Amino acid sequence: MQMQRIEGITDVLRAVKAARRGGRRIGLVPTMGALHRGHAALIERAAGDGCFTVVSIFVNPTQFGPNEDLARYPRPLESDLQVAMAAGADVVFTPATAEVYPPGFDTWVEVGGELTARLCGASRPGHFRGVATIVLKLFNMTEPDRAYFGEKDYQQLQVIRRLTRDLDLPLEVVPVPTVREEDGLAMSSRNKYLSSEARAVAPWLYKALKTAAEAAAASERNAGIIRRHALEVIASQPAFQIDYLEIVDGDSLRPLDELQPGAMMLAAVRLGGTRLIDNIRL
Ligand code: AMP
Repeated sequence: MQMQRIEGITDVLRAVKAARRGGRRIGLVPTMGALHRGHAALIERAAGDGCFTVVSIFVNPTQFGPNEDLARYPRPLESDLQVAMAAGADVVFTPATAEVYPPGFDTWVEVGGELTARLCGASRPGHFRGVATIVLKLFNMTEPDRAYFGEKDYQQLQVIRRLTRDLDLPLEVVPVPTVREEDGLAMSSRNKYLSSEARAVAPWLYKALKTAAEAAAASERNAGIIRRHALEVIASQPAFQIDYLEIVDGDSLRPLDELQPGAMMLAAVRLGGTRLIDNIRL
């Protein structure tokens, strides 16, 4: 069947209900567009699972801070439709901001501070409130059986898992591994902002994370020592400004002093005007 582009909220619900009557399970891939191979991996996974695959493209204003890049966020709709179709999407859902947030909209989803106040939440106040609110709204609009999220945005993935558990949402959250450029840089719509000089420096973030993972693989258990290994690699590139570099429990995101099973290193840096995030399992 041909991929459909749907803008209206009642129209998308009608399409998914029809697919469900036809015996399909519904897979949702929420995105902000500017689709790249990372997004394509989520779509391919949903389609490969046999789902009727809905890709939402919505640059959600409520998850951007006042000094962030909402106005200049890339919106290449035609190429997004091509990427989504090639990856196996059944529907690309592009709701209008005015329909998602009509005048008077004032209900918010707050996932607890333990998951949302630290790490990205510390430098982006209100970000996860905007994310949790739009994701719950998209779940209600498309009634998915499965929703696919990238491990690249690891804190976001944990926030969505918690939201789903705490509110008894009848769906499965499916994590998808990070897709990288050949030099290791995690694919991101924001990589387009990097100057060629910054683009050459950017892969050192993943090199630093790999250095930490290698130290862990060599049986180092002390989080402070592992962190120092990674910090040395980041410091070798003076263009980086570190926002955070932390070793945390992969479920609760609580900081760890000693490695334990499920430990992760999460990082955010600024490079020129661009903020990059990445993570690795230790
Ligand atoms: P975004 O459009 O940046 O909001 O991302 C939409 C979804 O794609 C989120 O679940 C992201 O975690 C996921 N995603 C973004 N970049 C990647 C990547 N490089 N690899 C895997 N998933 C990704």
